[in-house]
Amino acid sequence: MSSHDCLFCKIISGDISATVVDQNDDILVIKDIHPKAPIHYLIIPKIHIKNIQDLQEENSRYIAKMMLMAKKLSQKLSGDQSFRLIMNNGAQAGQSVFHMHCHFLSGKVMNDF
Ligand SMILES: [Zn+2]
Repeated sequence: MSSHDCLFCKIISGDISATVVDQNDDILVIKDIHPKAPIHYLIIPKIHIKNIQDLQEENSRYIAKMMLMAKKLSQKLSGDQSFRLIMNNGAQAGQSVFHMHCHFLSGKVMNDF
């Protein structure tokens, strides 16, 4: 899939609307339209990288930027600021949009793994 066919690239460019939670020059955060927890955000780099298998040394800094955004998002949470991050890599792992992203989940007890 090219970036032209990519849902998240279209959201980043503004061609498709989404509920934006936060963003900076490198990262966009939107609400998941099918939330699995009271708080369910998607942390998306503003560069088309398919998934971890597609990650290269030269764009690996986006991983750190995603994690720093997770830290920032957690600081806005109430309680003990617990959260879970999930990255699905490949269709069998549950990846449905092939533009690397991280699910940020919070707001409920998550003892299951
Ligand atoms: Zn994309």
